[in-house]
Amino acid sequence: MLGHLAHPNGDCQIAEGPYAGHTLSWLWAEHRELFGNCEGKEFPLLIKILDAKDDLSIQIHPNDEYAAEHENGSLGKTECWYVLDCEPDATIIVGQRAKDRAEAAQMIEEGRWDDMLNVLPIHKGDFFQIDSGTVHAIKTGTLILETQQSSDVTYRLYDYDRPGTDGNLRPLHIEQSLDCIDFDAQAPTDGTVTAPEVDGVTELESNPCYTVDRVRVNGSKTLDQRWPFMCLSVIDGEGTVCGDPVHKGSHLLAPSTVSSIDLEGKMELIISTCRPPVPKRSPTGRGVGRLLGQSCSHGEHIKCSPARAELAIDQTPRPVPASLWLVTTIKKQQGAPPLIKRESPSPYITNQGAYR
Ligand code: ZN
Repeated sequence: MLGHLAHPNGDCQIAEGPYAGHTLSWLWAEHRELFGNCEGKEFPLLIKILDAKDDLSIQIHPNDEYAAEHENGSLGKTECWYVLDCEPDATIIVGQRAKDRAEAAQMIEEGRWDDMLNVLPIHKGDFFQIDSGTVHAIKTGTLILETQQSSDVTYRLYDYDRPGTDGNLRPLHIEQSLDCIDFDAQAPTDGTVTAPEVDGVTELESNPCYTVDRVRVNGSKTLDQRWPFMCLSVIDGEGTVCGDPVHKGSHLLAPSTVSSIDLEGKMELIISTCRPPVPKRSPTGRGVGRLLGQSCSHGEHIKCSPARAELAIDQTPRPVPASLWLVTTIKKQQGAPPLIKRESPSPYITNQGAYR
């Protein structure tokens, strides 16, 4: 159930099961229990596959604070890119070199884009985290799986002085871009994934907006549902997910009611989720079940890696959403729908020009 996710400008439909035909935003509004009772008006992630046949405009997204103040309470945007494929000489733009606002303004004024923009060669399997405040652009000959905060706020810094589909130049947002550029951020030098692969799983990124893992399956493998939900995209190969056949281009949502995900075959997946927000109810865990893959019961303390620390109950009794969500998982398991599947209409959803 991905492709475009639940943003009003790109909602997606559930392909099968009890909710077939409904949109993801409907499911989010009507059945929040399937998402571990996460809070929020909108489904928190947007997942897109961008097939750039042309250089996309050079953009920047504000952070949440700036967007809230200047864009009617919208969210800012943090996003990340996994390179599914690219032409041999393909490049991408991530980051910029001006040291401060004045220097950036001068470079823009003088059209010194080559001096300003950080252009990088890319390869299949590269990964880039694009924090808000980062100048970025996807360039021609690039197929990317993008996971991002659900928001539409984009400032266009430069559009290669080319006319849009209506023959006119599209508006630029130079002042907002200058307001938002993070001049302290270090521009990356390449997109090579350096995170370790542990039992086929590589954590590509984990931040307050989302966590994105790459999962390689060769044979069979079981993933515990550690999150309020998971979005799965098969990016290579084929096999089964919980017994259902899937192949490159299959997208699935594993709701919180699925406690574990059985994968079989030879395939590669990108799995995205959001961090559980602060729960509405008491954070105290009740009942018995599994937490971070271990059996546990009320009052037990589970140790975990630092990256997951905020999800587990540690020696110190501090609020943790995990235990609450654990109960939700266990309670809803009986008779709940299995994986919800959506096949994208074509192997990949192409960029239609709205985000050119
Ligand atoms: Zn962007």
